[in-house]
Amino acid sequence: MEKNNTDFKEIEEKWKAFWEKEKIYKFNPNSKKKIYSIDTPPPTVSGKMHIGHAFSYAQQDFIARFRKMHNGNLFYPFGTDDNGLPTERLIERLEKVKSKEMSRSEFIQLCTKTLKEITPTFIQDWKNFGICCDYDFSYSTIDNNSQKISQKSFLDLYKKGEVYKKEFPVLWCPECQTSIAQAELEDKELDSLFSTLKFKCEHQDLLIATTRPELLPACVAIFINPEDKKNKKFVGKKAKVPLFNFEVPIIADKSAELGKGTGMMMVCSYGDKFDVDAITRHKLKPKIIFNKNGTLKIKEYQGLKIKQARKQILEDLKKDNLIAVQKPIKHPVNVHDKCGIEIEFIPDEQWFIKILDKKKQLVKQGKKIKWYPEHMFKRYKNWVEGLEWDWNISRDRHFGIPIPVWFCKKCGEIILPKDSDLPINPIEIKKTCPKCKSQAIPETKVLDTWATSSLTPQIADSLTGNKIKLPFSLRPQAHDIIRTWAFYTIVKSYLHEKEIPWKEIIVSGFVKLQGEKMSKSKGNVIEPQTVMEKFGADALRFWAASSKLGEDLDYQEKDLVAGKKFITKLQNASKFVFMNLKDWDGKKPDKLKPLDELFLTELNCSIQKCTKSFEDYEYSKAKQEIEQFFWSNFCDNYLEIIKKRVYQGENQEKKSAQFTLYKSLLTIIKLIAPIMPFITEEIYQTYFKKFEKEKSIHTCEWPKAEIVQKDLNALPAYILLKNILGQIRQEKTKAQKPMNAECIVSLEKKVYEQLKEMSNDLKNVTNAKEIQIGKFEVEFL
Ligand SMILES: [Zn+2]
Ligand SMILES: [Zn+2]
Repeated sequence: MEKNNTDFKEIEEKWKAFWEKEKIYKFNPNSKKKIYSIDTPPPTVSGKMHIGHAFSYAQQDFIARFRKMHNGNLFYPFGTDDNGLPTERLIERLEKVKSKEMSRSEFIQLCTKTLKEITPTFIQDWKNFGICCDYDFSYSTIDNNSQKISQKSFLDLYKKGEVYKKEFPVLWCPECQTSIAQAELEDKELDSLFSTLKFKCEHQDLLIATTRPELLPACVAIFINPEDKKNKKFVGKKAKVPLFNFEVPIIADKSAELGKGTGMMMVCSYGDKFDVDAITRHKLKPKIIFNKNGTLKIKEYQGLKIKQARKQILEDLKKDNLIAVQKPIKHPVNVHDKCGIEIEFIPDEQWFIKILDKKKQLVKQGKKIKWYPEHMFKRYKNWVEGLEWDWNISRDRHFGIPIPVWFCKKCGEIILPKDSDLPINPIEIKKTCPKCKSQAIPETKVLDTWATSSLTPQIADSLTGNKIKLPFSLRPQAHDIIRTWAFYTIVKSYLHEKEIPWKEIIVSGFVKLQGEKMSKSKGNVIEPQTVMEKFGADALRFWAASSKLGEDLDYQEKDLVAGKKFITKLQNASKFVFMNLKDWDGKKPDKLKPLDELFLTELNCSIQKCTKSFEDYEYSKAKQEIEQFFWSNFCDNYLEIIKKRVYQGENQEKKSAQFTLYKSLLTIIKLIAPIMPFITEEIYQTYFKKFEKEKSIHTCEWPKAEIVQKDLNALPAYILLKNILGQIRQEKTKAQKPMNAECIVSLEKKVYEQLKEMSNDLKNVTNAKEIQIGKFEVEFL
């Protein structure tokens, strides 16, 4: 029966199999109990679970398990995100191919095949870690059902006039050769050269500084601030662009800041968002010099990549003495978050969802949701208020959900499929224009993966036969995807249902190592699989429970060691308790001994605190509370106090202690079950199962704080008893006596009176022959 701490592997395997076989985590859509629903994050399929996953999924799992016991019916589905760029990259890496060099259908086939092979092992990591999802309710963001819901969403928004197609300078990644959304931009600090170049106007030099001389051939105007006394004489004239020798208009525009640099600036098509706005504002004709693969299309520099062209043009400028000053600088640039490459603006036809006209409503929707921690709402609000573009939802990639549309080239008609034909791939189906009968052209672009993952509540709900109405109870997620996943989900449920997607959102932090973010390139990555191999899943979860929501947590092995120690202590304490319950009849005695009632009262306080902490998503507080109660109140005090009573006590006093032991230990393991599911199941099955009706500890009801018969006012006496016990132990240590040394204890009269009812227990635990009235003293015999 005894288990030592090296057996955790065996324990994990046994209970994992049991949970799966007995469907312990099954969701029942027809249950009358109130459903607690979680919009589980679908992890992006990759080789295996990483430590950041372990950290954030553990935290949401504490809540899920608590809610399962507390509410009785939990909807906790599982999904995987497996389309779009990250998946394409993964397949390219695993299969050593380049998607752009393959035919689209060939590549899609390869993706589907590879995903089928790797996904089960990937999901197994979550099961090994004890994540209690009902894996029967699983989806992938590329499966047929998700495709159908995603295309339906597109059609619905198109019909509502919320989706449009437009030729526009979009954010473009020349590396991935696709347009991207604002949410996919990242700032990166780069080394660069800041060169002041000599433009010419009527034989005078106009000095203009830039970090991007390769944009000179795309220059369309020079801006001068209208207040610029020194330079305003040039306004209305033409400037000659250095090296390329064509002329551009000189325009007065306030956006050229006075006192910044030379006060003059060049406007190019397109260096940044500012250029896009400036060119639109002044109705200038753009000169597009970049190809979609990031090479130049102008004669002299044809085919050069942007960086090569920059270098070459700088050399040529230098040769012609067209650089006045040059200095190295560091400056932030926008890069694509998936590949780290600087983005460009390239005019292209893309699909957009209107969001700029709804900033106010979207902030309002966000405010209706309860954010944990609260300050995360601010991040959301700042993001919405800082939006500069509508949401670009089309991507020029292979592996994504097709945009379900055909066009008629002749008359411009847009042709949509029927809902009942979804999911559909327009490339595979020929359509004729209903108006002019000419052959329609299929859309070849696919949807941004966020356009699908923003529908996870609707996708998950569809698996239940639409039993869960929006809003879901909870969305757990990490803080780096507030601007994408949280934001887009709020957008979609607002546009479709005019509803918030969830009532509450919890946002988790990151895992660090000695204060630094872990990354493969730094070589400081800890793998959860390795940690679990050494310490077990429970110990890793115990570690994840030590941080507050939203806060980063440092990985330290000593926390894992503490978790293992706790597990061993739980096992030993359980063994001790049940050794003393062998002759127990399983019944609650009519009357409990005062000390036992007081101990149960103390336990009730702990239940209340734990419940409140879990309800407030303060799982670290709950963990601390149980840990403290177990080590100090249960093991160090209660077990010691009643030892003699259960060994040698008379009928009633023994039964009272036995009942209290059983009840309190069962409560303790229930309280810790959300955090440590494996060891608590092991203890429940080994010892409690024969007395209890529930199949598993995880289907048990969450402990309720009961009012015990004893007046709560008596609790101070119990606290006093623990204090006196502590003092007597101290005296024994001071006198270098063993804890079971026989003694005579003297107590002040008032204390003596207060502890009278429990004096036998005090005698037992201190091995006092007598307790008498007097000045506090411990006398050794
Ligand atoms: Zn990219
Ligand atoms: Zn037509």
